[in-house]
Amino acid sequence: MMYNGIGDMMKECRTSAKEIAEFLYGSGNLTNERMLAVRQQEGIEIHQYWQAKYQENDQKEVFVKTEVENEAIRLFVTGRIDGILIRDNELMLEEIKSTYFDFDNLDETTFPSHIAQAKLYAYMYCLENKLKRMTIVLTYIQVEDKDVFQIEKNYSFRVLETFFKKTTGKYIEWLKILEDHESSRQKSIEGLAFPFPEYRLNQREMMAYVYRNILEKGILYVTAPTGIGKTIATIFSSLKAINQPRQKVFYLTAKNDGKQIAIDTIALLEENGLVAKTCEITAKDQMCFLTERDCDPEVCKYAKGYYERIYKAIRDTFENESLLKKDVIRKYARKHRVCPVDMSLDLSNYCDLIICDYNYVFDPRVHLVR
Ligand code: SF4
Repeated sequence: MMYNGIGDMMKECRTSAKEIAEFLYGSGNLTNERMLAVRQQEGIEIHQYWQAKYQENDQKEVFVKTEVENEAIRLFVTGRIDGILIRDNELMLEEIKSTYFDFDNLDETTFPSHIAQAKLYAYMYCLENKLKRMTIVLTYIQVEDKDVFQIEKNYSFRVLETFFKKTTGKYIEWLKILEDHESSRQKSIEGLAFPFPEYRLNQREMMAYVYRNILEKGILYVTAPTGIGKTIATIFSSLKAINQPRQKVFYLTAKNDGKQIAIDTIALLEENGLVAKTCEITAKDQMCFLTERDCDPEVCKYAKGYYERIYKAIRDTFENESLLKKDVIRKYARKHRVCPVDMSLDLSNYCDLIICDYNYVFDPRVHLVR
């Protein structure tokens, strides 16, 4: 998802139909990121295997795009259709999915985001090619033995159009929430005053260095004695340097008390008018609801069906809280029955300040892929 600049009258956002479908109609269990990468590679291979069977007049990787807007946001939606096929003189849109899922339990309601993605594609394709109807084929292929299961659905353009408008309308509603927050954040940062009557010795100088350094995309090393107010100097100046949509401040620390000082500082800035969303990322062991951590969806109810509930959980938290500390995240995660660890990572996508351990940025085994 990409925004244009802060301060324009009409905001523009670009996103893929896949991202919209997964965000609004997501389903399925949590999978760890290493497994996700393996699955992505398997998915590419399965796609290539199946598309190699296409007939002469079939097309693969067909690009589609359209735009939709309300009074505040113009949304550009794009997509890449796996296949446009001609079978018995009929045009069909194929969406290929690799899977390990048991075909006996599979129908079009099993993974709502798959059919939603295909319907968004079908609408865009029909619109571009002035078609009145379109058949969608969802082709599921088993990774291990390449067994194939297909679901076929035929939709009129009107039905696809209604679905597209309803879905993008709901997505724009979410973008508007983000957008309104961003405008409030920006205004609050512009008007934000340093929360103490005086600067400590060298504190102002340090703040100027931090501010200029961020704007110049540099790296700054500062050694300063305890007590000059480094935390407020850094956070305040970093916030003042935010001048682009979706920019974030990462505050990295090695210790829990370092985190607490950062949280207290942000709370103080909030009391002084700052509007911002802050996310604290905490180690799994301290966040997990289970006495013995086991992320297998068959064991942990917070992993099972995670993607069915996470959108509501994120929206609820985002609309009602600003300082997303460990306890706040756990409260909302429990309310929506989602894993608090992954929820904090998903929430961090939409937050302005992220407070976490160094290793979330520097350790290649655990760094924030998001
Ligand atoms: S709640 Fe605990 S066990 Fe369940 S998915 Fe999250 S970290 Fe894993």
